[in-house]
Amino acid sequence: MREMFDLQKLVRPGLDKLVPYDAHLYTGVIKLDANENPYPFPAEAAQKIGALAAGDVLSRYPDAGATELRQAIAKYTGVQPEQVMVGNGSDELILNILLTFGTGGRVLITNPTFSMYKIHSLVAGARPIPVPRRSDFSLDVPAVINYARQSESRVIFICSPNNPTGNGSTLEEIEAVLSQVNCLVVVDQAYLEFGGADCRPLLDKYPQLIILRTFSKAFSLAGLRVGYMLANADVLRQIQKVKQPYNLNSFSQAAALAVLTNREPFLKQIQDIITERKALQEGLQSIPGVTTYPSVTNFIMFRTNYDSKLIYQQLLDRKILIRKLGGPELPGCLRVTVGTAEENKLFLQALGQVM
Ligand code: PMP
Repeated sequence: MREMFDLQKLVRPGLDKLVPYDAHLYTGVIKLDANENPYPFPAEAAQKIGALAAGDVLSRYPDAGATELRQAIAKYTGVQPEQVMVGNGSDELILNILLTFGTGGRVLITNPTFSMYKIHSLVAGARPIPVPRRSDFSLDVPAVINYARQSESRVIFICSPNNPTGNGSTLEEIEAVLSQVNCLVVVDQAYLEFGGADCRPLLDKYPQLIILRTFSKAFSLAGLRVGYMLANADVLRQIQKVKQPYNLNSFSQAAALAVLTNREPFLKQIQDIITERKALQEGLQSIPGVTTYPSVTNFIMFRTNYDSKLIYQQLLDRKILIRKLGGPELPGCLRVTVGTAEENKLFLQALGQVM
């Protein structure tokens, strides 16, 4: 007689700490929740991408080495192609880093920050160790160094500029960490195009640095899932062992290449987003009871004196979707993406009504 099938007994330890991603697609709303580029996709790049949807791109397997795209990214960022790896969004790269180096070890995460570092640590069977940021959300460099050494962490995640707080770390702060620890240091620069210090110059000096970047934000390709990392070729050779051969589909590879080679209109949009960010910041500050935090990204975190969950819901009732934060680290906090001038105006009007 066989024993009863017991699903819970078979689930890998650690997964009990996770809840399945609850995907709810809101339609018919002003979407200011996911830090996407709000402007229309530039026509020339759109035309090139549209023309790709035929022939070999569909019927043949992708180039597992993403040769052309990696060469273009190498040129764009000033590294060698061997120092570039692309992924199905930078989310996949975070997981691959953790599957390569984190499993069975500890991973340092500077909270509050992007949630996927913790989630993917648990998925990869690593133990996430939280290190609090300072009250202004700057990096507590001595604490990071101490915690990393004491916990013998294998990987440290530093998000700069940081999601959801909006501030960036200086090169001096990042370098202070790099020079004092012997583990891998991942600096997630998903929002770099909007501001903050570029860590690229540190790559030549520190072989344990991994820089994560993405086409999802400034370059409007969130739907096609294209992220990349820059790192020492030896580090990437290890990660290549866990990477799915065809992780980035042919269409996305070609689309990202089309964006990089037609980037002028995106650079203009980035400038417009930075201008709108200032106007949105001022608009938020003019609403009584709202406190804003400085941002070098395409979003702004703000706090209100009221129940943030209620404000979120009342905005959603008015067809405006932003991001709930809250929790013990960010009480009363919400995050809004910088939209078009019109979207920002409607958001500010609605927020003024519900406050
Ligand atoms: N890093 C940070 C800091 C992010 O905010 C995001 C997206 N929210 C990602 C990585 C993931 O980006 P993607 O997978 O779209 O490249």
